[in-house]
Amino acid sequence: MKPLLSDIEPLQHWLEDQSDFLRISGPCSAETPEQVMAVMEALAAQPGLHYVRFGVWKPRTRPNSFEGNGKPALGWLRASALKTGLKQMVEVADAQHVEAALEAGIEALWIGARTTVNPFSVQNISDALRGIDVPVFVKNPISPDLPLWLGALERVHAAGIRKLVAVHRGFTSYDAHPYRNAARWEIPLQLKGMVPDLPVICDPSHIAGRRDLVPEVAQRALDFGMQGLMVEAHPNPEEAWSDAAQQLPIHELGEFWGRLEYRSKMEISPEYNNRLWALRKLIDSLDEDLLNVLARRMEYTREIGRHKAEHNITLFQLERWNEILKTRTHRAGELGLDADFIRTLWMDMHQRGLVVQAEALASRL
Ligand code: PEP
Ligand code: MN
Repeated sequence: MKPLLSDIEPLQHWLEDQSDFLRISGPCSAETPEQVMAVMEALAAQPGLHYVRFGVWKPRTRPNSFEGNGKPALGWLRASALKTGLKQMVEVADAQHVEAALEAGIEALWIGARTTVNPFSVQNISDALRGIDVPVFVKNPISPDLPLWLGALERVHAAGIRKLVAVHRGFTSYDAHPYRNAARWEIPLQLKGMVPDLPVICDPSHIAGRRDLVPEVAQRALDFGMQGLMVEAHPNPEEAWSDAAQQLPIHELGEFWGRLEYRSKMEISPEYNNRLWALRKLIDSLDEDLLNVLARRMEYTREIGRHKAEHNITLFQLERWNEILKTRTHRAGELGLDADFIRTLWMDMHQRGLVVQAEALASRL
């Protein structure tokens, strides 16, 4: 699979300050004219920001959530951009959004995670972008599917866009806890490996899902060599109309940026080019996934224990245990894992599971 991406413009060419670390911040949604102006004025007072983000059309997982103010909000954005001189970017999900946003003077666009999953939508957006020189940011699809993400980037690229940036915002997973979305760092790193010239930045807000976890995710993204961050911030996050739990208070943004350690390219190279270092980071993130899976597995074991206690069933069920051992070691063989190793691992897990179930039983006596 050879990526069809060439001649991508390096960030330094189009970021006017020559910085190689892209800083984007702003609220999840443009809520009211007053909120938009307050955001822009507060952000204008903080140096170093490249774009202010606003959700104008909000694709929501479920209906009856705030779906954005649409076109009228573009007028509020325009007025506040003229007043402050800051550049703005919005999410687009179809050709009409692209046209309306560009007509309103919006300086950059992003394609959201729920849109990237759909090649029809991405093509529709790309057709509207043909012949236009505007930076386009493509978030990863909500599913952990690298070819789908790459395909979306290729469609936008085929429309002639060369100011192209990939945004890593995590992936839907039932194992994401304590985060909202699973980071799966190996996926953006693989993308970077396939297309080294493509700037890849991170949206730690949608990965973390909780404002107290945003800084650690942001730092990890920079440690992995990502070239920028898109961070949700709101003048009064508790009152935000969408994603209230994850937005940083705007007045804390200065401190947030200040605490991040960013190694410039030169400094990064010994570490960043170090394969061992990158592999260790990947192992760290897989271990995190493993622990989350183990915790969930143990929770189900405990629930089974409670169920057995309620129905007076013996804790140890030989037939079930034999079946587990047989199927797991068989599958291990298919995956190229040593069967004895897997047997030992499962015996330890089973042993611990019985203890947990015995505790569940004892607590009912
Ligand atoms: C957003 O940026 O507010 C948003 C909806 O993000 P995502 O598409 O990553 O879910
Ligand atoms: Mn959001």
